[in-house]
Amino acid sequence: MEEKILIFGHRNPDTDSICSSIVKEILNKKNGCKESKAVRLGAVNKETQFVLNYLGIEAPELIEKVEEGQKVILVDHNEFNQSVEGIEKAKILGVIDHHRIANIETAEPLYYTARPYGCTSTILYKDFVQKGIEIEKTEAILMASAIISDTLLLKSPTTTEHDKKALEELGKIANINIEEYGLQMLKAGTDLDDFSEEQLINLDAKSLEKDGTKFVIAQVNTVSIEDVLKRQEKLEEVITKTIEEKELSLFVFAITDILNSNSEIIALGSRTDAVEKAFEKTLENNRAFLSGVVSRKKQLLPVIDKNI
Ligand code: MG
Ligand code: MG
Ligand code: MG
Repeated sequence: MEEKILIFGHRNPDTDSICSSIVKEILNKKNGCKESKAVRLGAVNKETQFVLNYLGIEAPELIEKVEEGQKVILVDHNEFNQSVEGIEKAKILGVIDHHRIANIETAEPLYYTARPYGCTSTILYKDFVQKGIEIEKTEAILMASAIISDTLLLKSPTTTEHDKKALEELGKIANINIEEYGLQMLKAGTDLDDFSEEQLINLDAKSLEKDGTKFVIAQVNTVSIEDVLKRQEKLEEVITKTIEEKELSLFVFAITDILNSNSEIIALGSRTDAVEKAFEKTLENNRAFLSGVVSRKKQLLPVIDKNI
């Protein structure tokens, strides 16, 4: 059995999942817990790669599963279906997360930190401050990047005062222009050209279920909705195929304009009525423009789920 304590975020890791894992390892080590080791559950996306390149650091090691009794700490998620294979039999020492709590059960007591903030790294930032542990430039940039990513540069409605304050302080420590750095980082994540349509609809897809009705809400960030829509026909082909294969009632593909904070959605399936009711819009050419909508967690999932 691995003696290390493995720290990881969710599958299809985003910048928060990767950066918060690395930061939690740093925090633990500074706090005297030397066995901590950040790992990841999937490929590093382009936005996160920009951060790692900027800092000149390696991505955490990729793991496929964990053995029974493996000590782990979960960041940026808690639901077992978003976690590593074998999680049911792992020894969960702690969870640091900013999502709803669902589908988690542990055999033993644990440290569980849940805060309704915009980002896991905001929780970690407060932990550094509370413990009086010095934040160096590397971890400042890692945490700032995670906050920028999860809150879309503080523009997402998931943003809280805690995130704003943390990002401001981290920007000072890192001595970077947050606006400039953040835009560069977000843009690095919107380079979608070399992804196939199949990859695009799976880059950031969440599988959901309500009363036996299975649906998916997928999202991509872009600086040009129009560019992505040029591929609508092919996107619809692969979405239709996925609906058949996974027996879905609905597939919503949200194309989010990170510069102007709007989304265009493509919705297919037998239950597109849920989308029309949710947004009081009639789909035209299977599409609808949603002004001011950028957050799946706050603006897409709850209203669609309610109308399923
Ligand atoms: Mg995440
Ligand atoms: Mg997060
Ligand atoms: Mg996200």
